[in-house]
Amino acid sequence: MPTDIKSLTREELEAQFKTWGEPAFRVTQLLDWLYVRRATTWDALSNLPKTLRAKLRENFSLEILELARKQGSPDTTQKFLWQLADGQFIESVLIPANPALYGEASDRHTLCISTQVGCAYGCRFCASGLDGWKRNLGVHEIVEQILAVERWSAAESSRLKVASCKLETAAADEPATCNLQPATDSRVVNNLVVMGMGEPLANYDNLIKALKILNAPWGGGIGARRMTISTSGLAPQIRKLAVEPMQFRLAISLHGATDEVRNRLMPVNKKYPLSELTAACEDYQKVKGRMITLEYILIAGINDSLEQTRPLATLAKRLYAKINLIPYNKVEGLPWVRPADEVCERFLAALEKLGVTAMLRREKGGDIDAACGQLRLKTERALAESQQP
Ligand code: SF4
Repeated sequence: MPTDIKSLTREELEAQFKTWGEPAFRVTQLLDWLYVRRATTWDALSNLPKTLRAKLRENFSLEILELARKQGSPDTTQKFLWQLADGQFIESVLIPANPALYGEASDRHTLCISTQVGCAYGCRFCASGLDGWKRNLGVHEIVEQILAVERWSAAESSRLKVASCKLETAAADEPATCNLQPATDSRVVNNLVVMGMGEPLANYDNLIKALKILNAPWGGGIGARRMTISTSGLAPQIRKLAVEPMQFRLAISLHGATDEVRNRLMPVNKKYPLSELTAACEDYQKVKGRMITLEYILIAGINDSLEQTRPLATLAKRLYAKINLIPYNKVEGLPWVRPADEVCERFLAALEKLGVTAMLRREKGGDIDAACGQLRLKTERALAESQQP
């Protein structure tokens, strides 16, 4: 398989163009096509000479994520199911910073991206790991999730503008001349969270290279401090991340503040128990000096009792961490249940009383198969059923 053009850094492209005898400014033009205009075909690169386009076509691929399904409406959280070039599916989720609660659409968005097809870590509550791990995503497949969402957003806003232009011209009894071109240069994604399908730190090298491309001014232009990497607790990779020069944010998918609870939910805890995970987080903080986030999915009868708040608060204080409480989103086929709203509120209040910073995600996500990996799982299973003789 040829290397995809979107898995190369500017320096790598410059070296390649030099061996071809192409001037350096052609790299700038190419990067503009890839990351500003978000071109989808080699033919679109109209200001590059045909000979250069032919060389690019011969040596590299230019893969595009195909939108297989989308759930949610433009003002709320939206989930995208993408089909990759080899037919596999992955998910990305676009979350408005202000979820338009008061009728005001937000122009700031966080995108949650995937790093693997499936997941090998098998957390008991998660849909992503249910059918196991299939493969790591390539650098370009991580990068493309942002570009594909921005392409979709540009086309969508253009479609809405044309619809409103047609209404206006019809009302004024004028002939319709509404053929607006999709805007290509607007940035939609301001924050990235690497918390979708897969364990990000198990695809370490591809992830870090993709984030460098997404951070570069010639690439995605997203600040490293606006990128959060979440891990289920791979202690050695947390230490490796600590020495990366970029200032990413770190989130730990904790979900249990004792080994007893975590062992029940997350097999990774047998390999890296809490003592080891905590030590790695402390080492990370010594180097980075940055606040860590502890993600804690509240599951009825498993980790939502008030007695769990004390060890959780102790851990958060030790790590100078804030806690994100996320009521469980039901996954079909799994026995776990979301606690009642009052239980979640009580848990939050108890943590606050213990003097830690905690937030409770209150919006409902069940209507869009909000649990990570669920849309992919449903689609794959429906496809498999439809293909049975
Ligand atoms: S929670 Fe994350 S690490 Fe655990 S199975 Fe799901 S995707 Fe994998």
